[in-house]
Amino acid sequence: MLFIVLFVALLAGWIMGRRKNSSAVDKSKSAVPPDYFRGLNHLLNNQHSEAIDAFVDSLQVNSETFDIHLTLGNLFRKKGEIEKAINVHQNLLARPEITPREMRLVQLELASDFMSAGLLDRAERLLLNIAAKQTEFQPTVLALLVDLYEFEQSWDQAIQIGHQLYQLNKKQTLAKRLAHFHCEIADEKHAKNKSKEALQDYQNALDMDEKCVRASMGAANVFIAQKRYRDAIKELKQVANQDKDFVPITVGLLRDCYEKVWGNSGFTKFLQEQNRTSPSATVILALAQRLSKDNKDYAEIFLIDQLRKHPTIKGFRELVQMQLNEATDEAKEHLEVLYELLDQLTENKHKYLCRQCGFSGFQLHWKCPSCKSWGTVKPIHGLEGE
Ligand SMILES: [Zn+2]
Repeated sequence: MLFIVLFVALLAGWIMGRRKNSSAVDKSKSAVPPDYFRGLNHLLNNQHSEAIDAFVDSLQVNSETFDIHLTLGNLFRKKGEIEKAINVHQNLLARPEITPREMRLVQLELASDFMSAGLLDRAERLLLNIAAKQTEFQPTVLALLVDLYEFEQSWDQAIQIGHQLYQLNKKQTLAKRLAHFHCEIADEKHAKNKSKEALQDYQNALDMDEKCVRASMGAANVFIAQKRYRDAIKELKQVANQDKDFVPITVGLLRDCYEKVWGNSGFTKFLQEQNRTSPSATVILALAQRLSKDNKDYAEIFLIDQLRKHPTIKGFRELVQMQLNEATDEAKEHLEVLYELLDQLTENKHKYLCRQCGFSGFQLHWKCPSCKSWGTVKPIHGLEGE
C-alpha cells in the first residue's frame, strides 16, 4: 500500500513538473499546488488515507492524470473507503472529454466499488451494460459477473456467464470452479429428492472437470439413497483416480456399500491397492480391521509393520487399542492412560487443511472459508493426520 501511494506521489510530481516546463508562460497553472505538498507531508507521517485525499485534490482531472485518479480510487477501495472510491470514479465519469475506452475502464472500477459496498444490483447493471458492448474488457467484465453471481449464489447465472468466459480463456481454475457451481445445484436437487436431475448435474460437473471429487462423491450419495450400491462403489472408487488425498473420506462409505453387496473381498482388494500406491491411516486401519476378523495376531503384526513405514498417531492409537484387549492388571492400566492421551491428541487435531492458504478445521469445506478457493481444502496427511 505504501509503495503504491509513494508511486502515485512520484508520478503526480513528475506530471506537474512536466506541465511546468511545457507551459512556463502560464505561471498560475504551472505552479505545484499546495495540496501536493500536503499529500507528501501526510505520507511522511504515515497518514495514507489523508495523503491519498490530498493527491486527489492536487491533480486536475485530464488525460494526463486519468490513470493516477483511477489508481487513487482503487487505493480507497482497497483500504475499505468505498464511498471515497465511488466519488473519485464518478468524478472521472463526469468528465466531458472522456473517451469510450476510458469510460469503460472507470465503469469497471465503479462496478468493483459497488460490489465491495454490497450494492450488487447496481454492479450487475453496470457490468451487463459493458458486457453487451463486447469490448476488449470482455474477460474482465465476465470474470466480475461470475464473482458477483457466485457471491449471490445464483448458480445458474454464474454457470452461464462462466461458460462464456471459459470460451475466452480456457483456464483450468475456472473449469474447476464451474464444476463446483454444478455441484451446488446438484446438492440442492439431491436434498429435494430430485435424484435424476441431481445425477445429471453431477455429470455436468464432471464434464467440466473430470477430477471433481465432489461430483463423484455426490453421485455416490444419490446412488446410496437409491440403494444402488454397485453404482455407488463405482463412483467412490473413481475418487482414488481423481485425487488420492481424498481416499480416506471414501473408505467408510465404501465399506458400507461393499457390505450391502456381499463384496468384502472386493473391498479388501481396493484397500490393498490404495495401501500400495498411497497409504493413509484410514486405509491401513481399515485393512487391519479386516485382517483381525480372521487372525488378530496377524492383524497386529501387519499394523506394526505398516506403522514403521507410515507412522501416524491414529495408527498408534489403534495399536494400543489392540494391545489393551489382551493386557492384564498393571500393563492394562498404563495402556489405558496411553490410549486416552493418544485419543485426545487425535480428536483435538484439525482434520482438514486448505492447500492454498493454510486454513484448517474439523470439517470438509468445498469452498475454503478463508481464501474462498474451491476444492483446495483436503484431509491432512502426515504424522498428525492421515
Ligand atoms: Zn484457503
